[in-house]
Amino acid sequence: MYENKYVVAIKSDGKILREFGESVILPLGKEYSILLKNLTNVRSAATVHIDGVEATAGNLLVIEPNGTIELGRYMTANDSGSGAAFKFIERTTQIENSGRGVRLDDGLIRVEFWRELAPARMPDIDQQLMDQFNKQTQRRITINGPVWATPQYPAWPYNITCQTANLSQTNIVGHQSGCMSANDLVGITVPGQHIHQPFATTSFVKSTEQSTVLILKLKAQYNDQPVKEPITVKYRPTCQTCSKINTVSSKFCAECGTSLRI
Ligand SMILES: [Zn+2]
Repeated sequence: MYENKYVVAIKSDGKILREFGESVILPLGKEYSILLKNLTNVRSAATVHIDGVEATAGNLLVIEPNGTIELGRYMTANDSGSGAAFKFIERTTQIENSGRGVRLDDGLIRVEFWRELAPARMPDIDQQLMDQFNKQTQRRITINGPVWATPQYPAWPYNITCQTANLSQTNIVGHQSGCMSANDLVGITVPGQHIHQPFATTSFVKSTEQSTVLILKLKAQYNDQPVKEPITVKYRPTCQTCSKINTVSSKFCAECGTSLRI
């Protein structure tokens, strides 16, 4: 997914998952990582929310110009250099009725990017104020997991009404892809295996310009069927009607015209 020269992609088994609009397809039980790319010519920083929980735990992930970060696990304020990987599982009835319950943004990965304040503008700002700003925005980039924070719904830039009849909430704050039908198999992210991924500390001054928000939805189904393998960029869609293997870019089956979209 690409916007304002920022890219977000999901990787599983070392391969980048194919995007279907705003969605990527991943089998339940799989672990994944989140790839963040900064195609701008200024340092940028990002935060990551998964299922409405801030996986970056108050830290900013700083990405160099034309640089990439692959976030493989949950972070906390105190870094041990390792933590729990992102694991995609089914939101079962038991989970829905548990303390965790149902979150309106379950299955959604939300990444927010900020550009660093342009150095050319520094002289315009009072140095003392600048030092204070720098001090305040100097945040440790650390990792540890798992993190179970309160979902931060007001941070979402959208306010969309779900038309789906079975949704008990008619007015939700969230992205439209958060609206689900009764037949949807809903996947959520939980702490997976403990992995090592150290981060260094740096300082970063957020630009006052508007941030860029990218949202991906993790889905466990393809054509209403649970998938067994990740659908990667190399994936060639098979027609559910006539079984013809079509090219990656095909929207409709070349043989019988069935839609290949999800
Ligand atoms: Zn076909």
